[in-house]
Amino acid sequence: MTEIVVLGSLNMDLSIHVPRIPLPGETLSGGNLLTSPGGKGANQAAASARLGKQVAMIGCVGQDDFGRRMKSNLRSMGIEVSHIKEETSVPSGTAMILVDTRGENCIVLSPGANQKVTLGPADVDLIKKARILLLQLEIAPDIVFEAIHIAHAASVPVLLNPAPAIPLEESIYPMIDYLIPNETEATLLTGVKVMDLPSTQKAAEILLTRGVKTVIITLGAEGAFLATKKKKVHVPAFKTEVVDTTGAGDAFIGGFASGLVQGKEIGFALQMASAAGALASAKTGAQTSLPSCQELESFLNQKSGAQEVPS
Ligand code: ADP
Repeated sequence: MTEIVVLGSLNMDLSIHVPRIPLPGETLSGGNLLTSPGGKGANQAAASARLGKQVAMIGCVGQDDFGRRMKSNLRSMGIEVSHIKEETSVPSGTAMILVDTRGENCIVLSPGANQKVTLGPADVDLIKKARILLLQLEIAPDIVFEAIHIAHAASVPVLLNPAPAIPLEESIYPMIDYLIPNETEATLLTGVKVMDLPSTQKAAEILLTRGVKTVIITLGAEGAFLATKKKKVHVPAFKTEVVDTTGAGDAFIGGFASGLVQGKEIGFALQMASAAGALASAKTGAQTSLPSCQELESFLNQKSGAQEVPS
């Protein structure tokens, strides 16, 4: 049975390591071009599958080499790809990524076929049977909102990673069980500049007031902030040797969703999320940096003694 359904983007990531992010008009010499499958939707699907979960993805690629590679890559991880359509009129989505020596990145997206995602009857059935629905905002927002309505009506928990952020209609918030923005996204959604713990808490409280059940604001190396009506906690990040933070947020979400579908309480799901985010920051690439179940388990054991991560 499908545990996690991801509705979202697939992009081919074209990355180059650079000494620093170039200024407008400047040409810099960087490392070798790295071509790797990415896109927030595909990355979050891959993050969950790497952690041993049954995952299906709904999305769209172009009828081109990148599209075929992205689908077969997900298939090789055991992800159900029959709901990923192939569109003839546009190329597959691509992302141009620059990563500097501190691991900071800078990205330009060409959405391409991601804008052509639609929901057919088979996709609707798939969503209704999921244990959780994961969404981001790299496909047409109307499709995201349609899927949220479908999942909510079928009592399927909804996890929205509002990236890249756009203002959301007020009526959407009460249908979101888990809203996971980063600092920039939380700032855009609330108008509160998220820069320290008090401002993070303030932004989280605004989102709760709008009707979201659980808000988790990710804070990069500073960890994450969890807010529900009952509790507000700051979860520090695990210490790690940072190489490339591309995909850290996606690893975090895959780890969190995996913890939830394992029936774990939210605190433990957050530990899994933080560990996945830290491990992903210690390697290059988006999907290539995602930890396996065993890696995550031994990392958590190492960091916190006898904690177990059952598959
Ligand atoms: P995004 O990539 O979406 O902006 P963040 O940068 O906030 O997301 O990272 C998501 C999560 O990954 C963080 O909440 C944290 O748990 C983990 N993480 C990110 N950067 C680091 C880091 N430098 N060291 C350890 N963990 C990190």
